Amino acid sequence: MKKNIVIQGALAAAIILLICYQFFGGANIPPVKIRIATGGSSGVYFAYGNAIAETLERRMNVPVTVIQSGGSVENIRLLREGRAEIAFVQNDIMTYAYNGTNIFSAEGEFKDFSAVAGLYPETCQIVARREIDGILDLRGRRVSVGDEGSGTELNALQILGAYGMTYSDIDVDHLSFGASVTAFREGRIDAFFCTAGVPTPAISQLAAEGEARILSVGDAHARSLISQYPFYSQQVIPSGAYPGMGEEASTVAVKATLAAGGKLDGQVVYEIVKLLFDSRDEIAKTLPQAGGLNRDAAIDGIPIPMHPGAERYFFER
Ligand code: GLU
Repeated sequence: MKKNIVIQGALAAAIILLICYQFFGGANIPPVKIRIATGGSSGVYFAYGNAIAETLERRMNVPVTVIQSGGSVENIRLLREGRAEIAFVQNDIMTYAYNGTNIFSAEGEFKDFSAVAGLYPETCQIVARREIDGILDLRGRRVSVGDEGSGTELNALQILGAYGMTYSDIDVDHLSFGASVTAFREGRIDAFFCTAGVPTPAISQLAAEGEARILSVGDAHARSLISQYPFYSQQVIPSGAYPGMGEEASTVAVKATLAAGGKLDGQVVYEIVKLLFDSRDEIAKTLPQAGGLNRDAAIDGIPIPMHPGAERYFFER
């Protein structure tokens, strides 16, 4: 009899523990190691990746490694080579990779990955010295077009192309956002491209010093760009986005998206998406871009298949 009571007690305790585990953080996911491919240390990918990693470790007890990289193009390669499970990728770059087109035409199509959620707009910001009037004025100047392996570089090429310009019109440098800011301050470059969520930490630092402005992509040029590359949409950077910068700028934007390698388990992805939404307001306290996360935008404008785990999360809601 006594033995029975002990067994029943133990069983009840186990059930209570299991319920607590399910509802208060410890999610029901198989043991897994997650590596998140982000970007340079002064970008938004890196800050967002660290916030997700911190939350996953704290709430689910999952070990997470945050990988710094050149950006979207390198992140696709990290997924492809099985060196990352999760990656931040621009939606344009993700589509070229999936279909093996544009910059990925030599590597061929890569189908073994899928979308987890669309996150926030990434604005193509062209930061230039105050005396530079517009994109055509970049002729003959030293310009950073983004890091090696970035999505920024492809946006730079396409935007220059819309103005009838190529690399032969400028003096090209490949720098991360952080290195661009340093080179700008030291007078080694006159402008740099930066495709990232607004406000981008690297640009905020520079704006306060009063030497920089953001160039606009003219209406007609933006429209011709969008007709050729439908991933772009027009976007205004409001004057208050960067204190010290002054006037607003009108440019184009793509979309930051979280992607998963083909081997990542559906339950794990489901829990990651759930966590992303459950922790949105907490993460947004330090990372404004996270605050814009919503269910419609998360599945909108994603031109490749969604991961089944993410699909289940969105379907249930
Ligand atoms: N979208 C950028 C790229 O792939 C990186 C943005 C970031 O680091 O926040 O080039």
